[in-house]
Amino acid sequence: MKNSRRHFLQQIAASAATLPFLSAYDAFGNSNFSASNLHPIIPQGPTLRVALMGLGGYASRVAEAMQSCKRAKITGLISGTPAKLDDWGARFAVPEKSRYNYENFDAIKDNPDIDAVYVITPNALHHDQAIRVAKAGKHVICEKPMALNAREGQEMVDACSRAGVKLLVGYRMHFEPKTVEVVRMRAAGEFGKIKFFQGLSGFRIGDPSQWRLNKQLAGGGAMMDIGIYAINGARYMVGEEPIWVTAQETKTDPVKFKEGVDETILFQLGFPSGAVASCLSTYNMNNLDRFFLNGEKGFAELQPSTGYGPIKGRTNNGELTQPHVTHQTLQMDRMAGIILDGDTPLIPVDGQEGLKDLKIIDAIYRACATGTKEELNLG
Ligand code: NAD
Repeated sequence: MKNSRRHFLQQIAASAATLPFLSAYDAFGNSNFSASNLHPIIPQGPTLRVALMGLGGYASRVAEAMQSCKRAKITGLISGTPAKLDDWGARFAVPEKSRYNYENFDAIKDNPDIDAVYVITPNALHHDQAIRVAKAGKHVICEKPMALNAREGQEMVDACSRAGVKLLVGYRMHFEPKTVEVVRMRAAGEFGKIKFFQGLSGFRIGDPSQWRLNKQLAGGGAMMDIGIYAINGARYMVGEEPIWVTAQETKTDPVKFKEGVDETILFQLGFPSGAVASCLSTYNMNNLDRFFLNGEKGFAELQPSTGYGPIKGRTNNGELTQPHVTHQTLQMDRMAGIILDGDTPLIPVDGQEGLKDLKIIDAIYRACATGTKEELNLG
């Protein structure tokens, strides 16, 4: 494995002349900025064999994207609907012995063809399902939000640690080339001292009967689903952990957005350097997917910033031109490297990362309820 990795780095070095942005990465000289975590070419290595749990809308997207993966493959399926297991099993060549339901999936512990389970079910189910996967001795990839709150998130981190398995969160933007380039530029000081971030994350949600508008299954409203992108983005764009948050909630449709299901929340974050962030999370406005980062020497703007892409953006140096790669394909190939080779991604995707966002979400809900500034201690 070490050899193939070295071979890959040699290949990258050899091709640097044709890939102009690589020289800047190499010049950065920080081990976190190695070619392997900045470039969308996937190094060779063993294949991560993944069981998908919850065969709904997003799992379909992941499954299609995984058909182009170089290092990740669907080898198992978990669903409560037998017809879906048959259909997906045939489509993705998953044999019957590797198809499970929610009652019997603990038996994956005896399945040598599965390394990891990707939990893609409604938010409220993540906690118990991830812990069962960990107890079965398999790595966990869990969709965002990792859980409903920080207490649950901590229990998941602890369970995975006890079981000696990895816990990763489906933060696909952490591998997206334009996002990664902005983070590299910021970390290299190219924008100067960071002063301000704006994150606008929202869309108009449709069908009022869907689980996303059910507090029991979603754990909240827009914040759990889309606002989390502005929280997470604020952290990786600014490059610091926030130390306080203030938040205000507004609701124009209390029938659709019932008690405990947030429609629109404005929130502000403060960082140790003095940088501040102003963010909006909503289920009631369209065309709202924008990140803006401002520093003393420059700026970056991504719009769209977290949709399925292509992501578009520019900095004070001009247009960002990194190629679009299907987010979920890149994510799963990179996660294979993290799980199987111990790679360190530029922007973490581990359970601690998911937990930090949950701590901020808890504090945002508290701040909405009390109207006071909430201190954050993300460690
Ligand atoms: P979905 O409703 O399309 O699919 C959910 C699946 O879970 C369905 O197949 C459903 O049958 C199954 N399920 C199992 N138990 C269930 C129960 N008790 N109640 C309802 N459904 C149950 O939802 P989705 O859009 O695929 O979202 C699933 C997860 O993926 C969520 O956590 C969501 O936040 C996340 N997600 C992430 C992204 C991303 O870009 N990273 C995008 C969309 C969704």
